[in-house]
Formats: sequence, C-alpha cells, structure tokens
Amino acid sequence: MNDLIVIKLGTSVVTEDDGRLDEAVLDDVVGQIAALHKKYRLIVVSSGAVAAGQVDIKGYSGKLPEQKAAAAIGNPRLIQDYANRFAKHGITVAQTLCERDVFADRQRFLRLREMLETLWEHRVVPIVNENDVVSDLELRFSDNDELATLLAVGFSAKALLLGTSVDGVMENDEVISKITDFDEKVFALAEKSTSQFGLGGMLSKLTCADKAASFGVDVVIFNARTAGNIAQALRRKTGTWCPAKSSNLSSYHKWVAGVSLILSRVRVDSGAAKALRQRKSLLGVGVTSIEGVLKQGEIFEIYPEHGEGLIGVAKARIDSKSAQDHKDKHGLVLAHADEIVIY
Ligand code: GLU
Repeated sequence: MNDLIVIKLGTSVVTEDDGRLDEAVLDDVVGQIAALHKKYRLIVVSSGAVAAGQVDIKGYSGKLPEQKAAAAIGNPRLIQDYANRFAKHGITVAQTLCERDVFADRQRFLRLREMLETLWEHRVVPIVNENDVVSDLELRFSDNDELATLLAVGFSAKALLLGTSVDGVMENDEVISKITDFDEKVFALAEKSTSQFGLGGMLSKLTCADKAASFGVDVVIFNARTAGNIAQALRRKTGTWCPAKSSNLSSYHKWVAGVSLILSRVRVDSGAAKALRQRKSLLGVGVTSIEGVLKQGEIFEIYPEHGEGLIGVAKARIDSKSAQDHKDKHGLVLAHADEIVIY
C-alpha cells in the first residue's frame, strides 16, 4: 500500500484577507497535490469554511451560532472550489466532515478508516474538515491542526504537512529548520497569535507536531502560500521539520494513547504503579481515586496518587460507579494489561 501523507491547509493559506478564497494559491496547491496523488494516499485537511461563509452574515461577531452558520454557507463553496480545480487534473474529491466523538469510539474510528480506504481504492482525494455546523464547544477538535494530527497518528501516516502562512517556527527572524526536542524553550518561541480567520496558531502546531512525531509521524510546518512549497516540505527542503521518533506501538495502542478522547483520570498507589510498569492489569485495589465520570470502554489517564507525572493511559473495562460499588477490589479489573499503554 502506498504511504499516507496528511496535508493540512489553514484558513490563512486558502483565503485572502477579506475571507474570499485565494484563486492563485488554490491553483498552485491543487496542482501540487494532484502530482503527489500519483504516488501517495492522501488526506487533505482544509480549513476555510467559516471564512468563506462569513461574507454572507452581516455584522458577523464570531459567536458560535454564527460560526456554524458561516461554515454551513462556506463549506459547500470551499468543496465546490476544490472539486472544480481537481477536476482539471482528472481527480474527484470527497467532502469528508468529521466530529471529535467519532475519534473517541474505536468502532466508529475504524468505520471512518474503512470509508477512507474505499475513497483511496477509487482514487478519490478526501477533503476533510470539522463538521462545524453541529460541533459544539465542549466536544470539538481544538482546531484543524488537531484533526489532521489525529488522522495522521491514527492511520500511521508517513508525513504530516502543516501548511500555514508563515515560513515555519521562527527564532530571531530565522526559520528553525529542525526540532527534535520539544522543550519549554521551543514552546516559548511559538507566537501565540493566530491569523485573522483561523483557529490554530504556532503553539497549536508545535503541540500537534510534538504528538505526531512521538507517535512515529514526520512533521513539517511550512508556508503553503509560497508556490511549490508542499513538494518542498515533503522533501524537508522548507519550513521546520520535526522528525518522527521511533514508535513500536500497534495501531490499536496508537489509537488508545494518541487519538481517543480522554476525559477522566484514575490515580493509583505506588504498588499499582509498579505493577503497571511490569505490564500487569490495573486492579481496583490499587486505585486511590477516580477524577471524572468514567464510562465503560472509555480511555482514561493513569496518574500517581499525588501530583503529576502521567504513568499511562488505559481503556476502562467497567464504569466508575460499578467500580466504586464493587465489593471485591482485588478481583476487580479496571483495565486489562493488553489495553494499557505505559509511558
Ligand atoms: N473548521 C474551520 C473552517 O473550516 C476552521 C478550523 C481551524 O481554523 O482550524 O473554517
């Protein structure tokens, strides 16, 4: 099977300052993606729906219902534009709208993969965006950088190309060509500003790059408004390259640790922490507290009894209420060893 490349194009890449789609940039971008399509399986994550619809909401203030309405107007425009441009290269595109909770449920996530595989089989390029029209604040991707990262990690992409309107991560007006350690100094470089229309800034890109690289995906943060730069980014010839770290996690464990939605924390005593490091199951007897309401099948984080220092993540065999009511804490398996990822 051909390698998978995930290409994310921010709002500031595909639109002009007034929110209208940028013809020249889109022409260049689509031409390059069409060339890559010959060699790779592709996912294009494109923002720009909200910006492309805003012009029709008079006095747009950015409140959530207006954002949703703007996305409802703008997304068909965005997709139609891509469809027309890709058609000139003989390529069909598919509108692929995603919601965060699909990623949190293993079965639904696998069904998303089956759908994408069907598109690839038929040589169709998926154009992915968050389903902004129905995504509410509590349960949405933080931005499309996150959505692209979850797809790249969850489907073991070879590279994640995060296209933006700046040349990469900057230090003293120079692009940092390579980042391997995501320490505080690196995060301090990320200007917190976002572009006028998009959600994610450099901080979000670095957080995503850190995650994707640690799960074995090569990441490049680059300026996708510069002609020819997608191909250059793939060759690590432009932007900031964050090389993939070696990861021997199975795709199931990548999903558990990197893709699922984590809402609860379970704290464990030192005996349980030691047993977990020896790849044992998590038993009720070692649990000191559960923070949040844990549902059966949900992924949770494991922390020591006091303080920070994430030990790992695991899939719950039982919900928190049943766990608390369970009489035999030694016999209670909160998470099975096979469904635990230790850091
Ligand atoms: N989904 C939004 C859009 O297409 C943008 C999200 C983002 O900027 O990351 O307009």
